[in-house]
Amino acid sequence: MINATEDSEASVDLRGRGALGARFRRVFVVVDDPALLRLLSKILESAGFKVQQAEDGLQAIEAIRNDPPDFVITDWDMPVINGIKLCEMLRRESLPHYVYIVLLTARSQTQDMIRGVAAGADDFSSKPVIAGELLARLQAGARVLELEHRLSVLARYDPLTELLNRRTFFEIIEKEWSRSVRHGYPLSCVMIDVDFFKRINDTYGHLAGDAVLKAISSRLDNCCRKNDCVCRYGGEEFCVLLPDTDEQGAVHWAERCRQEIAQRPCLANQQSIQLTISLGVAQRCDDTQNPERLLDLADQSLLAAKRGGRNRVVVFGSHEQLQGSLP
Ligand code: GH3
Ligand code: MG
Ligand code: MG
Repeated sequence: MINATEDSEASVDLRGRGALGARFRRVFVVVDDPALLRLLSKILESAGFKVQQAEDGLQAIEAIRNDPPDFVITDWDMPVINGIKLCEMLRRESLPHYVYIVLLTARSQTQDMIRGVAAGADDFSSKPVIAGELLARLQAGARVLELEHRLSVLARYDPLTELLNRRTFFEIIEKEWSRSVRHGYPLSCVMIDVDFFKRINDTYGHLAGDAVLKAISSRLDNCCRKNDCVCRYGGEEFCVLLPDTDEQGAVHWAERCRQEIAQRPCLANQQSIQLTISLGVAQRCDDTQNPERLLDLADQSLLAAKRGGRNRVVVFGSHEQLQGSLP
């Protein structure tokens, strides 16, 4: 699942890069000299790094693209693709997270340093290799990666509920949409709104309202499968994307969620608060123009669920007709 609580190798993998101590331990070494390669692997592995290696730039690019490491350590002088070219190529890739690049070189001229940084290197380490220096440079790099990781989490997740935020949801729906169109897989969307939430705030206070939103988020999240994607769409609104799920499956899922919330109160600040949710379902059809239209259809279903009395699921059926389910 692409969410805040579970590690994942899925397209958006922000939290899932291991527990804190184990973070940023993956190094890709690109060196054409086998003896140097062995030495570097030994130094890095004894310091607890997980090492992958390649003897030429082309091989490295392919492997890094498929499974980006935290660090790349590359020699400057190599046949075919040298370290400078490799830096340039890596920086043109759109990788899911920042990769910190250290260029290994015996050069120390200012012009060379400028060239290396301009090509995309973050730091240099001297040749012949000095273990202490190389490890210190990786330590400095880990500080940069840690900051980038924290910024990514802030940019992609909603701080209150720890669900994906709306912006990230749009990125994911674009990708899932393309996949669904390309392979003809079904794709459904469910828009959810908490019923009479303003009353919860008015009765129990804003902090209790926040706790209720957290509890609902976690319960919705628990209803999801690994590839489903739940986001906080707005104040007390959530949107769930169900890949490989047709209209019937999505209605079934939505009804299960409705019951899950309606049948058990939320605990907020030692108070037991009973509430309900309304859900609007829509499936991508051949004539649904784009992801925005799918969201719009789910939104219209949600509106119909509200107008129909709340605490219910309404689906924008394949015949573009609204069909409701009574609680
Ligand atoms: P309806 O059944 O029609 O959806 O009624 P409602 O009261 O849920 O809808 P309305 O749009 O009138 O009110 C939504 C409320 O949600 C108002 C707003 O203050 C509250 N809200 C939005 N975001 C948050 C939040 O982060 N925390 C808390 N505690 N309340 C929030
Ligand atoms: Mg509401
Ligand atoms: Mg609302």
